[in-house]
Amino acid sequence: MTNPLLAQWTTEFALPPFDLIDDSQFAPAFDAALTEARANISRIADQADSPSFANTIAALELAEELLDRVSGVFYNLAGADSTPEREALQRDLAPKMAAFSSEVTMNAALFARIEDLWQRRENLDLNAEEFRVLELYRRMFIRAGAALDGAARNRMSAVKERLAVLSTSFTQNLLADEREWTMPLGADDLAGLPDFVIAAARAAAEERGQEGHLLTLSRSLVVPFLQFSPRRDLRELAYEAWVARGATGGKTDNRAIAAEILALRQERAQLLGYASFADYKLETEMAKTPAAVRDLLMRVWSPAKKKADQDAEILTRMMHEDGINGDLEAWDWRYYSEKRRLAEHDLDENILKPYLQLDAMIGASFDCAARLFGLEFRPLDVPLYHKDARAWEVTRNGKHVAVFIGDYFARASKRSGAWCSSFRSQRKIGGDVRPIAVNVCNFAKPAKGEPALLSWDDARTLFHEFGHALHVMLSDVTFGMISGTSVARDFVELPSQLFEHWLEVPEVLDRHARHARTCEPMPADLRDRLLAAGTYDQGFGTVEYIASALVDLAFHEGAAPADPMAFQATVLSELDMPKAIRMRHATPHFAHVFAGDGYSAGYYSYMWSEVMDADAFEAFEEAGDPFDPVTAQKLETHILSAGGCQEADALYLAFRGSMPGVEPLLKGRGLLS
Ligand SMILES: [Zn+2]
Repeated sequence: MTNPLLAQWTTEFALPPFDLIDDSQFAPAFDAALTEARANISRIADQADSPSFANTIAALELAEELLDRVSGVFYNLAGADSTPEREALQRDLAPKMAAFSSEVTMNAALFARIEDLWQRRENLDLNAEEFRVLELYRRMFIRAGAALDGAARNRMSAVKERLAVLSTSFTQNLLADEREWTMPLGADDLAGLPDFVIAAARAAAEERGQEGHLLTLSRSLVVPFLQFSPRRDLRELAYEAWVARGATGGKTDNRAIAAEILALRQERAQLLGYASFADYKLETEMAKTPAAVRDLLMRVWSPAKKKADQDAEILTRMMHEDGINGDLEAWDWRYYSEKRRLAEHDLDENILKPYLQLDAMIGASFDCAARLFGLEFRPLDVPLYHKDARAWEVTRNGKHVAVFIGDYFARASKRSGAWCSSFRSQRKIGGDVRPIAVNVCNFAKPAKGEPALLSWDDARTLFHEFGHALHVMLSDVTFGMISGTSVARDFVELPSQLFEHWLEVPEVLDRHARHARTCEPMPADLRDRLLAAGTYDQGFGTVEYIASALVDLAFHEGAAPADPMAFQATVLSELDMPKAIRMRHATPHFAHVFAGDGYSAGYYSYMWSEVMDADAFEAFEEAGDPFDPVTAQKLETHILSAGGCQEADALYLAFRGSMPGVEPLLKGRGLLS
C-alpha cells in the first residue's frame, strides 16, 4: 500500500486524508520527502543552464513541496495532539530537519546562482513580487551563513542543529510538566468557585478517567481558579505549581536548556558578524534595533508601573479588610482584582460567561469576516485529526477561498496557549493553491451535555487567532515564501490584534452574545459595563507583559548569561517589579522565546503591533462605521492579502498614510493620564 502522506490527496479540497494517516507513516514519509527535496535542490544548484529567476528562485519555491505537505500535517499534529510516538519522532526530526536546512543554505553552487541573479537584478525584467522574493532569498541565505567559509561554516551548521534539538526538548519538557501536575478538589475546595469553574474541573477529571474534580495547569482552568477561589492556601499551591513549569528539577527541567540556547544564539550572531543576537534578529524586523524596542517598552512601562502600584495598594487594603495581614502576593492579585471588578464595575464573570458561548463567538467572528470581507462559512463534514476539531469551507461570491479548521478545547495532548497555523499556505506558482488555516485554543471543555462557555479573555483569544487565520486565508500572492503571515514578526500581530477590536463593537455583542439557556441577548447595561471595564487591570496586564519582553530582550543583548534565572532576577529588580506581579512567562516556560526562534528577542512584537492595531481600528472609527467597506477593502488590499510582498512599514503606510505614535495604545490600555 502506498503511504497516504506521499500520495496525491484526492480528498475534498485536497485536505490531508486524516482518516488514512497513522503515526507509523510519518518517518518513512519524511525520509522520502527529504530525499526528493535533496534531489530537487541538487538539480537546481548543479544544472548547466545559467541562472534565471525561473530555473533558480521559482524552482526553489517548488523544490520542497512534498516536504512542506508532510511537515504541514506532522507539526500541526505534534502541537495540537501529541502522543509519545509523535514526541519521539519530533525529537528525531529536529536535528535532521535542521541539517537539511543548513545543507540548502550552505550549498555554495546554489548561493552562487542567487548571488549572480542579485547582481544582475536590474536587468532581469522582474516584477515587484519577483524582485522582493529574490531579495528575501538572498537575505535568508546570508543570514543562515551562506557567505561563511571554513570552520565558521561548519560551526554554524552544528549550532543550528543543536538549537533545534534543544528547542524541541524545551517544548516537550513543558508539556510534560503541564500534564504531570493535577490537584484533586474535594467538596470543601470548591467553595466560592462559580459553576463554570466547577464544570471545567469536572470535565478535566473526566478527560483523565477520574471521578470528582481536578485542577490542572491549563490557563483556562488555573486562571479562573486563582480569580475565584477564596482558599488562599490552595491558590498559593496552584500558583506556585503553575509558575514552576519547566523548573521542577529532574529530567524535565528547562533551566540549563535555556542557558545553552542563549549561548548558542549569541555564538550564531557573532559568527555572522553581529554584536549580539538581538542585533541580528531585529535587523529584519520593523523595530530594526534593540534601542528602538526598549524605547517603546519603557515608554509604556512607566505609566503601567505607576498604575499597577496604585492598584496594588487598593488590593492590599481589600486583603487586610479580609483579615489577612502581610503583603499582597502573586496568588492574591487575581482574586482581589476580581472582587474589585465586581465592586467597581458590577461585572461578575459568572453572570457574563453564559452570554459568551463558544459557538456563538465563532459565529460572531465569521459574521464580522462576512461584513468586512464578504466571506461565507459552511460547515464541512470531513475526517479531521481529532474528534474535537471542526472544519468549514470559506467562500466569497460562491468561489472557494480556503478551508478553516477550529480546534478549541484543552486536552492533555495539546501544548498550552493558542495559535494559528496552516496545513497549507496560499500560492499561485505551480497551480492556484488555496490555504488550509487552523486555529488551536485551550478553552475549558464543558462536561457532557453542557454548552461551552468562554471568558471574555477567551473570546478575545478566539478573535485574535481568527485574525491570524484571515491573514492566512485572504493571502493573494504568487510565491509561498511571502504568503499570508510570512511577514516581519513585529507586524504579524497586527491582523490578529486588530480583529480583537470587532468583539468590542456593541452591535456585534448585541447580535451574538446571547444567554446559553434563555437565548436572550446580553442586557445593554451589562454590555456597557463590560466595555467600560475594557481597560480594567491593565496596569497588571501591561506590567507582566513588559517584564517578560524586557527580560527576553536583555537575554539576547551582549554576552549570554551563564545563569538565566539570576539574570532574570537582576533585570526585574532593576525594573523595580511590583512584588505581587510576576512575569507573564518566566524563563523555564517561556515557550515564545525558547521553543523555537520565532519570538526570541521578539516578545515585544505584540506591543509593537499594538501601536498599529490601535491606530488601524481608528481608521474605521474615523470613517464612522466599524464595517466601513472602503476601509475594509484597503485593509485587505494592503495588509491581509499582501503577505510579505513589501517591507512592513510600506504596507502599513499604504493602508493608513502615516505611522502612528504610542498614544492610541496608551489610550486603549487606559494608561493615558
Ligand atoms: Zn497572535
